[in-house]
Amino acid sequence: MKVGVVGAGLVGATSAYAMVMRGVCTEIMFVDKNTLRAEAESEDILHATPFAHRARVKFGDYQDLAGSRVVVVAAGVGQKPGETRLQLLTRNAAVFGAVIPNILKAAPDCILLIVSNPVDIMTHLAAGLASEFDVPPCRVLGSGTTLDTARFRALLGRYFGIDAQHVHGYVLGEHGDSEMLTWSLVSIGPMGLDEFSRASGIKLDENSKRVIDQNVRRAAYKIIEGKGATYYGIGSAVAYIVEVILNDNRTILTLSARTPDVAGVKDVTVSLPRLLGGAGIISTFDPPLSANERSLLQKSANIVKTATLELGGKYAGKLPVHIECKECGGFCPTE
Ligand code: NAD
Repeated sequence: MKVGVVGAGLVGATSAYAMVMRGVCTEIMFVDKNTLRAEAESEDILHATPFAHRARVKFGDYQDLAGSRVVVVAAGVGQKPGETRLQLLTRNAAVFGAVIPNILKAAPDCILLIVSNPVDIMTHLAAGLASEFDVPPCRVLGSGTTLDTARFRALLGRYFGIDAQHVHGYVLGEHGDSEMLTWSLVSIGPMGLDEFSRASGIKLDENSKRVIDQNVRRAAYKIIEGKGATYYGIGSAVAYIVEVILNDNRTILTLSARTPDVAGVKDVTVSLPRLLGGAGIISTFDPPLSANERSLLQKSANIVKTATLELGGKYAGKLPVHIECKECGGFCPTE
């Protein structure tokens, strides 16, 4: 099974490397405006395949993406130290205006997996551009808060000394400063958080929660300050998402997608728990949040919506009207 990766920078290359390590696909096709970079990454990762899983790792032009089941979009510029994801918006929107149509001309049936930041708005924009090729929004997903959710679970696992696989908790809303950690929904093994904390004798006070919250929310800033970019976490998340699609695993992930209503905010693209399968997003869940969490989610959705509308002025013609889809909980074309 073939996967395209547009943008062979740190995130695109690490995603491809993680796919090879996991044995997710049989072919990876890199496309980058910097062809030397695309060639170098494809060669370097190909040389890892004898130690991992077999895969053909190549580079080419947009037409070489033909036949890709999934195309990962990690093209664009990264955050500079101290820069918010929203400040990247204008720079990366211009890149997408060219990249998305080129991908869909070559691979009209692919699922687009958007990773470039600010990922929510980039996904909204990609969904608009893709609708001109009759691609419904359930086939345009953003990695969203998949990584933040993993960070939340990993930090809680570390705090309690428990394998993060047994920690369930979700980060919803913007992949960015306003994201919301759903403390009220956390469960560890068969118990809710407070119950588990009592049973294990490990106290989790408000201050410890604040520290975990900050370490999830500010993770990217801290990593970028230390080494200039983040890529292992997101690369692993991308490989996992691609695997879910290619195997039709039907996994619940906090993906970003264009959604009719998020806590009262209409037509906005942020992360909610979504059921993902081989054809894209199957359904979207509206979890039972506390009143405070719902209001934080609304605030986060509003921030993304405002930034999207500012972009919408520039790309107004690219965001056509869709109706709410009863099947996937997202927007599908009016046809
Ligand atoms: P990078 O600078 O290392 O790589 C970006 C690549 O995109 C470069 O190779 C560049 O040549 C290519 N590119 C730029 N314009 C292009 C175009 N028009 N067509 C084709 N290729 C083009 O950056 P990176 O660290 O790999 O980050 C890539 C994106 O991923 C950034 O927007 C970054 O903010 C984002 N990111 C997202 C997450 C997440 O959780 N969603 C996490 C980390 C980084």
